[in-house]
Amino acid sequence: MTKIANAEAILVSIPFESGGTPPWSFGGAPRNAFDIMLVRLETEDGIVGWGEAFSRNQDRSLQALIESRILPLVIGREADRIAETKFELEFELHNFGRVGPVMYGISAVEIALWDILGKRCGQPLAALLGGAFAGEVEVYASLMRYGSQELVAEWTKKAIGLGYKNIKLHEVELPVIKAAVQAASGKARVTLDTNCPWSVEEALEYDKALEPLGLDWLEEPVWPPENYKGLARIRQAGRHLIAAGENAGSMYDFVAMIDAGAIDIAQPDVAKTGGIIELQKIAALCETHGVEFVPHCALFGPGQVATIHICAAHRRVPMLERLFCEFEAELYGEYGIPKRAHFVVPTEPGLGRDPDPHVIREYRVTTN
Ligand SMILES: [Mg+2]
Repeated sequence: MTKIANAEAILVSIPFESGGTPPWSFGGAPRNAFDIMLVRLETEDGIVGWGEAFSRNQDRSLQALIESRILPLVIGREADRIAETKFELEFELHNFGRVGPVMYGISAVEIALWDILGKRCGQPLAALLGGAFAGEVEVYASLMRYGSQELVAEWTKKAIGLGYKNIKLHEVELPVIKAAVQAASGKARVTLDTNCPWSVEEALEYDKALEPLGLDWLEEPVWPPENYKGLARIRQAGRHLIAAGENAGSMYDFVAMIDAGAIDIAQPDVAKTGGIIELQKIAALCETHGVEFVPHCALFGPGQVATIHICAAHRRVPMLERLFCEFEAELYGEYGIPKRAHFVVPTEPGLGRDPDPHVIREYRVTTN
């Protein structure tokens, strides 16, 4: 038994090139840079575990929340009591939000504790989850929003050229969506993520207009994301498989989605939805209800690595989402870049990948 002796939140922001503007502003100006909000835990005997909280726009408030409200509750705890720590953090902080920053921070701690456990046991995370069904996980190219027929066609072809067989669009204009589907025709399957822009009535109109394109799934067409009955109306139209879940806070949000008949594909995010234990629970819930489990992953740090292990540990290995962009620096060096649209499942202990200290030093967002 060993206790957590040190805990730190480290914010890294790395510029990228994607040929477009990110579709997301997250309350600030859209930027061509992604945050990686790392949580670093260290045990009394010197084992270091890394976790990640969902983060955008150099979110110093999230970092302050993690440092001031969450990490003090982690110091002194037994490192291998992962489920107990997860429960107690959630219970003590439940008044401050069951969806959002508190859960992001708890997710990061939980992932870091699994990394420590794996390193102590000498086993990779996938082995601790029951073993990997595959040595590699297929990646789908999750394209940025281009808002232009020419650009979306160009980047669709670029992804196909790199070996991607599955592409996700983040477009909301029909001619642009059609241009991408045409560019992918016969070479890659296409899904569409709209990020909750429409009323139910608007979404039904788009759902109809999109039908001839043969999309693999339609993701989050309805505002707000927790409007599960509204989402169910699109699904009931029977024209598309409906995917959602990246805005969920726990398994119980998926219970509500499934009860409403809202989803065919569940997309929990390991760095938002409570971590690895919660995703395993959600996967079991999905299995009992015939819902597909395909985790959301717009992460580039330990959250992405954890998602690779989680995907590998399921019999029908889900595809891994990766935003299609080229970073100025890779936190995991060559391991951060898919090869022929696949990531190898790490076999080294814990997450099996530690972030490059040089990249952290260079891209760390510091307080003045
Ligand atoms: Mg999405």
